[in-house]
Amino acid sequence: MANKSPISGFATRAIHAGNDSANEQGALVPPVYMTSTFAFDTAEAGGEMFAGNLPGHFYSRVSNPTLDLLERRLADLEGADAALSTASGIGAITSTLWTILEAGDELVVDQTLYGCTFAFFQAGLTKFGIRIVTADLTDPENLAAAITPKTKAVYFETPANPNMRLVDIRAVSAIAHGHGALVIVDNTYATPYLTRPIALGADIVVHSATKYLGGHGDLIAGLVAGPEDLIRRIRLEGLKNMTGAVMAPLTAFLVMRGLKTLEIRMDRHCASAQKVAEWLADHPAVKSISYPGLDIFPQRELALCQMSQPGGMIAFELKDGLQAGITFMNRLKMIKRAVSLGDAETLIQHPASMTHSTYTPQERARHGISEGLVRLSVGLETADDIMADLSQAFNLANRHFTPAKAMAHMTP
Ligand SMILES: *Cc1c(COP(=O)(O)O)cnc(C)c1O
Repeated sequence: MANKSPISGFATRAIHAGNDSANEQGALVPPVYMTSTFAFDTAEAGGEMFAGNLPGHFYSRVSNPTLDLLERRLADLEGADAALSTASGIGAITSTLWTILEAGDELVVDQTLYGCTFAFFQAGLTKFGIRIVTADLTDPENLAAAITPKTKAVYFETPANPNMRLVDIRAVSAIAHGHGALVIVDNTYATPYLTRPIALGADIVVHSATKYLGGHGDLIAGLVAGPEDLIRRIRLEGLKNMTGAVMAPLTAFLVMRGLKTLEIRMDRHCASAQKVAEWLADHPAVKSISYPGLDIFPQRELALCQMSQPGGMIAFELKDGLQAGITFMNRLKMIKRAVSLGDAETLIQHPASMTHSTYTPQERARHGISEGLVRLSVGLETADDIMADLSQAFNLANRHFTPAKAMAHMTP
């Protein structure tokens, strides 16, 4: 591994990996290279760089020292040979798939995907002669039935946005590799702190760094990690020539600032989400809840062996359905009604009308995204304050609900 650092702890690597301050005049925080282009020593040297015979940066759509540092750091955290930064999560996904696929290929995808990823596959890639085969990959056996000699890659999220269903990375990778297909995992929900898909057999990891990696709701960014040769192809074909979805150097600086606290933030997100999920599971207004840290979670065993902690995202449904859910969301005071996730602020949204409105109602039904589902990104506020806000909104939203019982849940 080219960028393997001698230090081993996750938090240490998230702070130091790839950085050599001796190269930056001792600066603790490396400078941000706000430059579009780089001067060549000689015309010949420029030609050699373009030909790929001489290392070095020549244009920031291809590479930039600030992006390079973030890429080395992410590759280290994901246990990958190399990484690539992009302007958004969708930029990471499109740059990757436009590199790997060509007309006539098949892509097997899990049935639950982030809304714009679903739209890119179903409405985008299909325009260019790529066949999308949807399978419920929560049962790896379904992949064996869906895969054909034309299958170039298998794509899934785990936990999946928004319903939290998990995919067994090891089992799916073994089947895919048996058929010569690449495995691409969207690791946005888990982050490399909770799950490292490449160690479990996946080939490529994609991220919306907008979420936990950036962690502060102040940027849009994406990352890809994987083998050196593939990352190089994705950089030169998908990113440089097809999408042009390049990350800005200032964004890379902010993502690195976020990564420094990824471990402590995730520890807190997970601890608070566990408390909130246990409280919601017992709440009389809640019909169902999906959180990998609960004993009632159907894939609890897989969660325990694939995730070091259950994450900061919760999906739940109210007893009185969609209308009760909307009333409830409108009555929240501290918790923000907003899409995105992984921020310091607790965020709540309704996938059917927001992040997953790219699906038709029939598609949502088929893909396991119920109309009444509410998605909660548990933030870094005091957990009791999060539950207090949810509690007051339930009290007002649900006529069957007794306030006394809600308060009983609040006592530590
Ligand atoms: C948000 C998200 C994306 C898209 O990322 P952007 O940074 O918004 O482009 C992709 N996958 C998942 C799981 C997401 O949550």
